Amino acid sequence: MPTDIKSLTRDELEAQFKSWKEPAYRVTQLLEWLYARRAANWDAMTNLPKPLLEKLQKNFSLHSLELVRKQGAQDTTQKFLWKLADGALIESVLIPANPALYGEASDRHTLCISTQVGCAYGCKFCASGLDGWKRNLAPDEIVEQVLAVERLMSSSGSSSSSKEKPITSTRTTTRAIDNVVVMGMGEPLANYEHLLKALTILNAPWGGGIGARKITISTSGLAPQIRRLATEPLQFRLAISLHGATDAVRNRIMPVNRKHSLKELVAACEYYQIQKGRMLTFEYILIAGVNDSVEQARPLAALAKKLFAKVNLIPYNKVEGLPWERPDEKVCEAFLRALEKQKVTATLRREKGHDIDAACGQLRLKTEKELVAAA
Ligand code: SAH
Ligand code: SF4
Repeated sequence: MPTDIKSLTRDELEAQFKSWKEPAYRVTQLLEWLYARRAANWDAMTNLPKPLLEKLQKNFSLHSLELVRKQGAQDTTQKFLWKLADGALIESVLIPANPALYGEASDRHTLCISTQVGCAYGCKFCASGLDGWKRNLAPDEIVEQVLAVERLMSSSGSSSSSKEKPITSTRTTTRAIDNVVVMGMGEPLANYEHLLKALTILNAPWGGGIGARKITISTSGLAPQIRRLATEPLQFRLAISLHGATDAVRNRIMPVNRKHSLKELVAACEYYQIQKGRMLTFEYILIAGVNDSVEQARPLAALAKKLFAKVNLIPYNKVEGLPWERPDEKVCEAFLRALEKQKVTATLRREKGHDIDAACGQLRLKTEKELVAAA
């Protein structure tokens, strides 16, 4: 299959156009069609000459995601199930204005995006890993999740895009999505090259124009890749899916911990923190009887203080077929208070989208089960 045009950076496009003896301003025009106007087909690009369009069409594909299923209403958490060109299913979740979750004051819309089909890491509580790993997403498949949701938002009139100013060579468009969290299906750091390319495109002024500080990458703890990320020039935010503050707890629910122990993970986070001077976030799902006792708040607080990390507590979202349960609200509140008492900055997420299977991988799993049952 040819490479999709949205997997190319501006530099790569410029080199290609140069070899075709096309003027550089044509690259600017193409990029405006792709990222400012979110064109879904070549025919839309009316200011590009026919011979150039033919060359582009012959050498590159231009896929957009096909919506299979949508859950949730406008102005609440909405979940999108997409079909990729090879028929694989992935999810994105749109969360409306949710201030200060990752340290930003006023985000309008946060989109949670996937980076792989399935996941190889097999955390015991997670729906994404239940069917194993199928493949990595290409950069364009990661980027396209933002564009596809924005296309739907503008067609349903729920975004500001209907008020967009005309497009000029300097960006004047406001994005409906201005925050991205890489917390959908898959382990982003296990698809490192494609992730970085996609985030570079989403961040670039000629691309998505989304500030690096408004992009959060979540990892289950791939220590070597965290070190690598620390040396990248872009200042992405990093969230660590900790879920346990001891090896005993992490080994029980997260097989990745047997490969990269807590000690190795913490050392990598320390390195990241020093290199970047940025605050980390610990994600901590509260699972009844596993990691929710107040005694466990103590080692968690120690780690958070050591790494200057903020803790996001997330009551577990029940996954059909798995034995884990969400603790009582009172237990969650007590855990939060125990952290606060130890002077740790922590929030307890009163889960948005709990009612629509918002945790990653659940809509895909449900749809695949239904498809099997119907066959
Ligand atoms: N693989 C990466 C990113 C995707 S998972 C990671 O693990 O960080 C995104 C987040 O959703 C992780 O913190 C993950 O632990 C959490 N998660 C997975 N299943 C969940 C569930 N059923 N309820 C609540 N959070 C869940
Ligand atoms: Fe994969 Fe993250 Fe789910 Fe673990 S929590 S199985 S790493 S997607």
